[in-house]
Amino acid sequence: MENNETTPKPAEAAAAPRPHAGPHSGPHAGAGPRRPGGRRFAPRRKVCRLCAEKIQLVDYKQAQIVKTFCTDTGKILSRRITGACAKHQRQIMRAVKINRNLSLMSYNG
Ligand SMILES: [Zn+2]
Repeated sequence: MENNETTPKPAEAAAAPRPHAGPHSGPHAGAGPRRPGGRRFAPRRKVCRLCAEKIQLVDYKQAQIVKTFCTDTGKILSRRITGACAKHQRQIMRAVKINRNLSLMSYNG
C-alpha cells in the first residue's frame, strides 16, 4: 500500500472550543470583601512566653514570673493579652490563687 501516510487531524485540537479559556482565565478577582479598618492591629504571632522559656511548671513561689501575667491591680491577664497557652494559663491561674492565699500577691493592687 502506498497510501500509508497517516493523515493528521490538526483541526481537532485547534477548533475545539474551550469554554473556560475566555474571560474567566484571569487571576482571581474575588478575594472576598475586605472591610477597611476592620483590623486595627498588625497580625503578630503570639507565642507562649513560658513555652519559649521552656518552663514546664509554673511555680507559685516564683512570684515575679506570676506577677507578669497579672495587672497592676492584681487581676489575672487573659490569654488574649498574655498569649499564654492553655496549659500555662491554667498553671498561672493556680499560682496566682495560691499566692493570694499566701499573701505573696495581693487581691487588689
Ligand atoms: Zn505555654
